[in-house]
Amino acid sequence: MPTAFISDLHLTPDRPESTEWFRQFMRESRGLLNRIYILGDLFEFWIGDDARDTLGYGEVEEILQATVEAGMDIFFIHGNRDFLVGRDFERRTGCRILADPTVIELGTTRVLLTHGDALCTDDTTHQQARKQMLTDKWRFAFLNQPVSERLDTASAMRKKSEIEKKSKSMEIMDVNQKQVEKVMRDHGVRTMIHGHTHQPAVHDFFIDRAPAKRFVLGDWYTQKSMLLYDKGCFSLKR
Ligand code: MN
Repeated sequence: MPTAFISDLHLTPDRPESTEWFRQFMRESRGLLNRIYILGDLFEFWIGDDARDTLGYGEVEEILQATVEAGMDIFFIHGNRDFLVGRDFERRTGCRILADPTVIELGTTRVLLTHGDALCTDDTTHQQARKQMLTDKWRFAFLNQPVSERLDTASAMRKKSEIEKKSKSMEIMDVNQKQVEKVMRDHGVRTMIHGHTHQPAVHDFFIDRAPAKRFVLGDWYTQKSMLLYDKGCFSLKR
């Protein structure tokens, strides 16, 4: 049975139609897919597993849990918006959290999975913020704040990032090809799948004279983008 890769769903109660598509997709996937990899930014934002109900994400967790109970393996890699998804989410839904990046094997092909923001090394302000927020110190301090304070911090951060985005070019916010090649070389892979940039495409290139491929997933709320793998073949739907 095929394996599906999706990312950047950015689910939020503010876009109930997206959650409905997600419910429908998960329902239709049963019996047709055996695995789903969600490569980050499943949620518009996440401020801790204990804030699920405040953010109105109970419904999404129920959809995930029902799909796992129906026999699907669901794997999740953190995105830059939901990097705080933690062990309680994992326990409640039955999804399994994988490190970013993770290398899996599809048939005989080693494939590197990543959200993708770590590849955008030209975006130095994002990389600085990322570096800080991924430390245990930051996480501990943030998660120990009351939910209301975390909400304020998160919305201030999102506003700041929206403003900054306007002054950044598409090139700066895209992945850096040198970094892509470095990561692939470091992990001994010639195939990579990521999201984050919302620019679905299949990029063919060479690393040390060997053909390499980079699949980019699009977002979900405008294009319901998905990559399918079945019997040695990939197909990108966008
Ligand atoms: Mn992202």
